[in-house]
Amino acid sequence: MSIAENIVRFRESIPDQVTLVAVSKTKPVSDLMEAYEIGQRIFGENKVQEMTEKWEQMPKDIKWHMIGHVQTNKVKYMAPYVDLIHAVDRLKLLKEIDKQAKENNRVINVLIQVKIAREDSKFGMPVSEVISFFDEKISENYPHVRVLGLMGMATFTDNEDQVSAEFELLEGLFIRFRESAKLSILSSGMSGDYKLAVNHGSTMIRVGSSIFGERNYN
Ligand SMILES: *Cc1c(COP(=O)(O)O)cnc(C)c1O
Repeated sequence: MSIAENIVRFRESIPDQVTLVAVSKTKPVSDLMEAYEIGQRIFGENKVQEMTEKWEQMPKDIKWHMIGHVQTNKVKYMAPYVDLIHAVDRLKLLKEIDKQAKENNRVINVLIQVKIAREDSKFGMPVSEVISFFDEKISENYPHVRVLGLMGMATFTDNEDQVSAEFELLEGLFIRFRESAKLSILSSGMSGDYKLAVNHGSTMIRVGSSIFGERNYN
């Protein structure tokens, strides 16, 4: 199936209120344009330099989401244009985003990445830190950052019970802080596990290989 057909199929298989982020990392601009032409406007990338190169070349009504781990010293390159940074997992990064947003006279939207997977390799803020994070008055101290929600990645496994339990943990945190912290986005679910994520309250899924095909990292 073509990229356009895959996107149509995906939109039909998820509830209307769930936002689809087309994860286009490693893919050429021509592939992204195929998605753009049938109306896709949100693209997810995991490297600042690659995202910036695509932003420069592509139409300016695209919303660029940084979904990968971000090094503090790279924030300045995307600060002029990034729409949403999904993987904020430490205060130091939040402070730098606030600083760079201020330099650009704007407010940058972010999500807090929560460590929900059991494997050690995944990034994210431990659950206990997330709780104390929301107890501090982030919006008052960092006026150029707006925390819109939470993001999580489940363990890469065929064990659906485990993946469900991890998404359920994330959903519980989201519900807990939704009103007090004015959260509206729960970013969870990828090609392999988006159905389980949607069953656990996901409002934003990040889908790459099911839209653009397998990635080739050579
Ligand atoms: C690559 C990536 C995705 C998309 O993964 P697929 O399995 O190709 O859908 C989603 N989220 C993050 C954080 C990623 O790095």
